[in-house]
Amino acid sequence: MAGIYVHIPFCRQACLYCNFHFSTLLKQKNDLIDALLKEIIRTTTFAGNETIATVYLGGGTPSLLETKELNAIFNTLHSKFSIASDAEITLEANPDDISPGKLRMWKQTGINRLSIGIQSFFEEDLKWMNRAHNAQQAMRCISEAQDAGFSNLSIDLIYGTPTLPDDHWQRNVEKVTGLGVPHISCYALTVEPKTALHQLIHKHKMQDTDPEQQARQFLQLIQWLTGAGYEHYEISNFSLPGRRSRHNTSYWQGKPYYGFGPSAHSFNGIDTRSWNIANNALYIKSIREEVLPVEKEVLTETQKINEYIMTSLRTMEGIDLDLVQLKFGEHMAGNVKKKAGRFSQERIFIANDFIRLTDAGKLFADGIAAELFED
Ligand code: SF4
Repeated sequence: MAGIYVHIPFCRQACLYCNFHFSTLLKQKNDLIDALLKEIIRTTTFAGNETIATVYLGGGTPSLLETKELNAIFNTLHSKFSIASDAEITLEANPDDISPGKLRMWKQTGINRLSIGIQSFFEEDLKWMNRAHNAQQAMRCISEAQDAGFSNLSIDLIYGTPTLPDDHWQRNVEKVTGLGVPHISCYALTVEPKTALHQLIHKHKMQDTDPEQQARQFLQLIQWLTGAGYEHYEISNFSLPGRRSRHNTSYWQGKPYYGFGPSAHSFNGIDTRSWNIANNALYIKSIREEVLPVEKEVLTETQKINEYIMTSLRTMEGIDLDLVQLKFGEHMAGNVKKKAGRFSQERIFIANDFIRLTDAGKLFADGIAAELFED
């Protein structure tokens, strides 16, 4: 079973912190959708007529697509792939796009899960981030989606902004749990190079983030959500039992996926990763010239084990040493275990041949993973 990711690289407004690939030049949208459909049709499948278990429309802002554009994408996907009747089909939606009419249309196209970019229910946060929606739209859209029959919802929240004191953070989390949302993704606001936020902070026009506040709010989050019955199944992801994101889980399990659209990545499930050019105009031009705008890389054994360490350490299950032994050999499994043993039990613990992070260790996940890497 494979997954499909479709990247819709348009947004109405640029959030200050964003480093995803997107453009606010919406006049390119028609040409880009044409190119996207051609890319899907021309793709060589990994394995004959394999079944697709999950489809994820991300971005950018896929919720700004019109009915005919979404229908064209789904019709093309169905003509090319065999999509399972119980497939998880997710659309990323921004609160300002959510209306009863659009919710009805999304249901009709077969979308059965929404991932809503709320980020905060407080106006000062949303303004600080330069989000396109306001607090009122954030408050309203979850119930509207539930009333329209979308029980399978995921909500994104951001913490660690200078405008978010701890009590507001708690109210953001409680608002989502109070509405019975089954899946919550929470991200610390990171100041990525080349973003507008990075420049503003550099010029002292905006306040920088505070690592202590971010660490504190992350640990509070774990306490509140696990206390409310959510599983902390990946560093940034929490779900009620049985409600994990099937699509994202398949990435972490190394399953194959197709990526369509500018900047989208694909993986054949074995050793080959590829990625499309992250430029809308060049993507359109290339496909018009009948060339797929893609670069490829065949992973070495070292890259494969390091990717496994990086992704699995972020999950609740952790690094499975039996699996490492099976896939990469006894020597590699021994190396990882030995390196993990050098960390204190406050950060890492090894139980039943699984290496897992403690909550305090999760604050340093990427650094710890790097220490466990094969050279
Ligand atoms: S809506 Fe999402 S993709 Fe678009 S600018 Fe904001 S964070 Fe980036």
